[in-house]
Amino acid sequence: MKRLLILFLFILSIQLNAKTITLTEEEKEFIKNNPVIKVGIMPDFTPFSYYIKNTPVGFEHELLNILSQRTGLMFEKKIDKWTTIYTAFKNKEVDVITSISYKKFREPFTTFTSSYYDIPIMIFVRDDFGEYKGIKSLEGKKVGVLKDVFYIKELEKMGTIDLVYYDTYEELTKDLVFGKIDALMQNLTNINYLIKKNLYSNLKLASELILPNTKKEDLRLGIIPEKPILSSILQKGLNSITKKEKEELVTKWIGSIKEYKGGHIELDKDEKAYLNTKVIKYCINPDGLPFEGLNEEKEHSGISSDYYSLFEKILSAKFELVKTKNWNESITFIKEGKCNMLALGMETYERKKYLNFTSSYLDVPLVVATKVDVPFINHILDLEGEKVGIIKGDAFVKILRQKYPSLDLVEVENINEGLDRVKKGELFGFIDTLASIGYEFQQKYFGELKIAGKISETLKLSMAVVKEDTTLLNILQKAINSMTNELHREIFHKWIPIKYEKGVNYDLVWKIAITSLIVILLVIYWNRKIIKTNKLLEEAQRKIEEKNKELEKLATTDKLTNLYNRRKIEELLEIEINRSERFNHNFGLAIVDIDKFKEVNDTYGHQVGDKVLKEIANILNTNRRKTDFVGRYGGEEFVIICPESSLEGVLRLMEIFKEKISTHKFYEVGDKTASFGVTISQKDDTIESILKRADDALYQAKDNGRNKIEYK
Ligand code: GH3
Ligand code: MG
Ligand code: MG
Repeated sequence: MKRLLILFLFILSIQLNAKTITLTEEEKEFIKNNPVIKVGIMPDFTPFSYYIKNTPVGFEHELLNILSQRTGLMFEKKIDKWTTIYTAFKNKEVDVITSISYKKFREPFTTFTSSYYDIPIMIFVRDDFGEYKGIKSLEGKKVGVLKDVFYIKELEKMGTIDLVYYDTYEELTKDLVFGKIDALMQNLTNINYLIKKNLYSNLKLASELILPNTKKEDLRLGIIPEKPILSSILQKGLNSITKKEKEELVTKWIGSIKEYKGGHIELDKDEKAYLNTKVIKYCINPDGLPFEGLNEEKEHSGISSDYYSLFEKILSAKFELVKTKNWNESITFIKEGKCNMLALGMETYERKKYLNFTSSYLDVPLVVATKVDVPFINHILDLEGEKVGIIKGDAFVKILRQKYPSLDLVEVENINEGLDRVKKGELFGFIDTLASIGYEFQQKYFGELKIAGKISETLKLSMAVVKEDTTLLNILQKAINSMTNELHREIFHKWIPIKYEKGVNYDLVWKIAITSLIVILLVIYWNRKIIKTNKLLEEAQRKIEEKNKELEKLATTDKLTNLYNRRKIEELLEIEINRSERFNHNFGLAIVDIDKFKEVNDTYGHQVGDKVLKEIANILNTNRRKTDFVGRYGGEEFVIICPESSLEGVLRLMEIFKEKISTHKFYEVGDKTASFGVTISQKDDTIESILKRADDALYQAKDNGRNKIEYK
């Protein structure tokens, strides 16, 4: 089983690395001659290609990046509206166009790749529609569609829906907003438009429309037919994108829009104006993961960042992180007006003097971490008389001090200091949120500390806005109100993955965040699994390295003699030629050919011949200098490369070889000699030219009666 798993991981790791594509000579030639390809791409085709803060982003840009990595082609993007790039494409001013759907009439001027995405058709309803339970919910309802859309026939055939036809989707949308129809169907590419213009008044996304006989609108790359090799390269690039990679692209760029299920947010005029004109500057706690922090790219990460991405989307608001060194600096910044709000904070009496708080959107239980041998802690007062750590400046310190004056709370700088001091025995326990401690346990402390119990207090986290800015407070409160429990749960579980037992009340669960017991079990489980998997991976990695070394050896050595093979010798020659050019040093080259070797085979047989070859190889190998390379060039010929040598040096070495060979008693055969052709590298040598000189010298040696050394 273990072996199987290793094998599997081995194969997997090969697969993971096998991201390059195989190109024909013709294709390679094409890329070499045409490294930069002009591509037409749209500026307003959300989410495929659009702009965020002056930067073009989207599914297709990322797709082009992947294709660029795989093929080595570079893309020069011409970003313009569809009619412009389409005309440019037809006029051959660009070689490639993105987001083109297959149409027969385009064939004369387009070579199509396969489709990289099929655009789904979406159903929108008003948010007073009630629960949408599939297409049946539309029976007898008025549903707006655009005239002549390609799926209209199939909808008509169903006969159960009261279809209303429109010329433009602006009109269609307006009629849904004002209640003239109950639902509308529209493709995803217009969704961004809809979200921006109408969604917040009273529309919501119900579902994707899936019709059995209707194909979705396909997005492909189009290539001008004059460049068939380019289209085959790009098709190969597309083929190399794995299912997983495709899924990641879809989730990143399209999934989020499809998943939007929030209720509607009704903003008044002031609020809309605020969002249209202002960039909301916010501060976070940069060391507060999993709640919030900075990732390796120094971007906002953690639970609060997911909320912000969502708010950004559902409010069409612009949030901008104001970076700080630590939480204290964030507090200073907000006091100085350098940021408008804190992404995540606990409401305290002290803070309420200068901040307004939304209702809490994250409730996290507080737990106590101790050494593993401590009994379960039922109540915070079980900690009486013991030194218990808590993070300095934490909103909770004051509250616990007031409520439980008998506790001996010790403030520490950060969670790691706290947990380390518990580990060392300096503190009995450490109080923090379940999430933070669980997160740290995953990283370290496994097997040494445990979560000994939950204390009755929970940490309620909200957004905090500077006092003056009530508009922003109201907007944020509306955004929080619109969040469904499902959305909360999704975010929460992304960062604090907890498996639920069956029969648990799902809506409550994320708030209560499960008892510490499940966490302990899961933490243990995760850690065991991680440790085990890591071990297996390490093992597999080691095996791969071993195998690679073996393979490398196999590819470069001659089986019979164990010397370098011809391939390796040529590679070494190439290196020496380059080196001698760069550093103006000479190197020597000798070809050794056994004299009258055919006679050995003819008299004693091939196997004895092989033995002689091995013995000669052994003589050459044991008598060479450390820096020389010896290889079998083929048959009974050997090559010796002597880096940085003079002719005299090489000749001297050959004398030794000649002497050793001619005096050696070969198994069964007795005496044998060899001839030597020697040369020294010259300016402008190639592998061929230098070998040729050595070979000519060898020929001379043979001509002079064999068992001789000659040089050219
Ligand atoms: P000379 O070089 O002195 O002119 O004579 P020769 O007999 O060595 O020359 P030739 O190149 O004609 O013969 C080389 C022989 O080496 C031919 C072939 O049978 C033998 N040979 C080549 N490779 C192998 C091998 O791997 N094993 C054995 N046993 N013999 C080999
Ligand atoms: Mg020969
Ligand atoms: Mg020979």
